[in-house]
Amino acid sequence: MTAARGFPAFPRRRAGARFATTWWGGAWLQALEDTSLDQTLLQQGRAYAKSGQLGPITVSPGRLAAVAEHEHDAVVRVEQLSDAAWDRFLDQVAAKAGHIAALLDRDMPHDLVRAAEAAGVPLLPGVGDLEPECSCPDWACRHTAALCYQASWLLDADPFVLLLLRGRGERELIEALRLRDAPPAPRPARAGAPAREAFARGVPPLPEPPPLDVAYTPLGLEPAPGVDVAALELLAASAASRARDLLTRGHLPVLTEHQDLVRLSAAFGLDLGLDAEAAAWRHGGAAGLEALETAWTPARQDLARARAMLETALETALETVGEGEPPAEVETARNRWTIGDLQLRYGRDGRWYPFERRGDAWWPAGPPERDPAALLG
Ligand SMILES: [Zn+2]
Repeated sequence: MTAARGFPAFPRRRAGARFATTWWGGAWLQALEDTSLDQTLLQQGRAYAKSGQLGPITVSPGRLAAVAEHEHDAVVRVEQLSDAAWDRFLDQVAAKAGHIAALLDRDMPHDLVRAAEAAGVPLLPGVGDLEPECSCPDWACRHTAALCYQASWLLDADPFVLLLLRGRGERELIEALRLRDAPPAPRPARAGAPAREAFARGVPPLPEPPPLDVAYTPLGLEPAPGVDVAALELLAASAASRARDLLTRGHLPVLTEHQDLVRLSAAFGLDLGLDAEAAAWRHGGAAGLEALETAWTPARQDLARARAMLETALETALETVGEGEPPAEVETARNRWTIGDLQLRYGRDGRWYPFERRGDAWWPAGPPERDPAALLG
């Protein structure tokens, strides 16, 4: 599966700040500006992009997303390339040694894009290829326009963001290229070789990360005064497990301090008064914690889809309960559906997070499911 990439929110920028300083960033904005002929809206989008109000951006295959004020979800969809198109694209990249090197240096060669286009692989979007969608009431809104403008900054810094939007992450592309043609006999790389030379000589596969449960023997030294050995051991174990995650997945999610505390509580059973949070984390990680702590309003079409799924699930549940049972009363509030002592919360990842009533509070009741029927049994 291709991993999404998260980018921190852009801080406020001065009014004169420019968008798109690279040619491909410029082409991206051209697609936006050619599609939306509403100059006022584009102007509002530019101003909003520089205002520091748009939240962190998530880039995933076919999708750019950020949260705007009042928790409005701004999403821009881009069509993904087919597997066959990716094959043709990789052919074009492999056809010229400099292409991989340029990409690794965060440059997008003109002739690569032209060659790909000639091979029927449109990397850069054209008119109408950026599909905005926002949960705010405006039909065409400044939030999605701002998101497109900010995306041009991301693209400027890293053309792999464009490739990820089109469906493939950097790691899988590099791996596919590496498998495609093994380079001739590698020579030893000298220290400080540029990425292009090192890559041209071939990158050996990385060894498997070590297993997590390697026993270690403490040295039996007296701890220095003021050192909390238990805390230090916990942090070392946590660092080791994060390092292992990084090696196996190639990236680590960026956590806030609060999320990290919850993660540690969940992993090591710390007594920090975060029991519900830790339970949510164990069931669903950061998304589970978000389901516990934040209510949000899904976009109209997502809401309709979620409602339809839940109604089907309830009908199925009713059939298995049998005659004589009254139909369940469902209360809805934003992304939360309450059925008696069960509450299902629809996550931003399209999964359903179950909660159960405990006194006045809702408690995480289990891992999330794609199909709410699995939670109504
Ligand atoms: Zn909006």
